Amino acid sequence: MVDVVVVGAGLSGSLAAIALSQSGFQVAIIDRYRKYPTDFRAEQIVGSQLKIFSDLGLLDSLVTDVQAVLRAKNFSFGKQLSSVLTPHYGMPYQDIVTAIRGQIPDTVQFIVGRVTDVETSPHPMVRLDDGQTIAAKLVVMATGLNTALSERLGVSHQKISARHSTTIGFDIASPKCGATDTPILVYYGNGFRDGIDYFIVFPCKSVLRGNLFLYRDPLDPWIRRFRQTPRETLLEVLPELRNELGEFTITQVQCRSSDVAVAENHRRDGIVFVGDAYQTSCPAAGTGIGRLAVDVERLTVHAARWLKAGDTSAAALRSYYDDPAKRRSDRKAIQKAQFRRALSTNASLPWTLRRQGVKAKHFVKYILNDALYAILAKAAQRYQARPTVHLARLAVQHAVWLLWSRMVE
Ligand SMILES: Cc1cc2nc3c(=O)[nH]c(=O)nc-3n(C[C@H](O)[C@H](O)[C@H](O)COP(=O)(O)OP(=O)(O)OC[C@H]3O[C@@H](n4cnc5c(N)ncnc54)[C@H](O)[C@@H]3O)c2cc1C
Repeated sequence: MVDVVVVGAGLSGSLAAIALSQSGFQVAIIDRYRKYPTDFRAEQIVGSQLKIFSDLGLLDSLVTDVQAVLRAKNFSFGKQLSSVLTPHYGMPYQDIVTAIRGQIPDTVQFIVGRVTDVETSPHPMVRLDDGQTIAAKLVVMATGLNTALSERLGVSHQKISARHSTTIGFDIASPKCGATDTPILVYYGNGFRDGIDYFIVFPCKSVLRGNLFLYRDPLDPWIRRFRQTPRETLLEVLPELRNELGEFTITQVQCRSSDVAVAENHRRDGIVFVGDAYQTSCPAAGTGIGRLAVDVERLTVHAARWLKAGDTSAAALRSYYDDPAKRRSDRKAIQKAQFRRALSTNASLPWTLRRQGVKAKHFVKYILNDALYAILAKAAQRYQARPTVHLARLAVQHAVWLLWSRMVE
């Protein structure tokens, strides 16, 4: 019997296995795939995510082979709103998971197989499709969007917002922008009619990627048209793209619709849910990685208590679900998803004014950041693109921004 068995070695499961084994527990982790398959998910490590991975001591290994892009240009209605200094790493999701899996200690048993059942009595135990069983004191469910196993256990997911947003990802070839020497380009939707939150162009490994975040049903004819004629359909809503990208082409279009949903009836003896298996996030809000990191951090703290006391009953596990930091992060992710959707789609006067306010904020940021950029560009050249330097820069940028926000409030 191991202390903890983690089901699912995606981002949350792998992080949980690392954190729990570092806390001294005997851990086994199970996944359907030895190598995480190609999948369209988070493709960027940016903003607060840098701090998350840095605090976990995983940032350097995560971005070893990835060149950071420091500058992002923001556009709205064809005008450049702001030019911010923000370190950005583009990498496919499977590379993120592979890098994090690479940090799982050898003491953790990695088992390849599909978990078909989880039993809780007389003690927690998982059953694999090959008949193998693994007993543990605690089962961590990190199965992501695959709800088949949860449903088998009677756990459902309440849809707070069904088909909340659609994310379209694709490769771009541009005569004006290379895949490595381009600043990040961010285009905000031009008003509420197009339902676009934002479109981002960024280097990702050896290609230039485009991610379009919008609020349209996946069956909307516009989405169908996008799949058929992506370039023309994109230019209809963002004609200004030509200025930066020239006569670009689009290939490898992938489309994902996302619900914002939270687990129900999940409070069981010996089983806890983390990451997307507990609550899904809107990709446009960019809260998925932050949320799952909080889940893993809080789980590690509470699991130490449960395992020491030898109590993994549903009553004991409540301390994790009711943890104030977890509840706050779950609530904020939902609020942010709802806020961004309303900001992009709500035509009422209050929301129109809010949209203008956000644009004004971006503009001020532009002035502050450009001054800051001029000062720090020299330092960047001297020290090259090292994560620690980026973090230092990010800290300065945020301090200036915080100061400004306080002043305008
Ligand atoms: C299109 C898209 C774009 C996104 N963009 C962003 C973004 O920019 N920023 C951000 O923060 N978040 C983003 N997200 C959200 C983020 O990607 C997810 O929150 C995160 O990947 C969830 O990780 P996870 O470990 O919970 O699930 P996963 O990474 O899906 O891991 C689940 C694992 O469980 C395994 N598994 C499932 N069932 C079984 C079983 N029965 N037996 C064995 N193994 C099993 C799977 O094989 C998989 O390895 C995006 C999501 C999407 C869909």
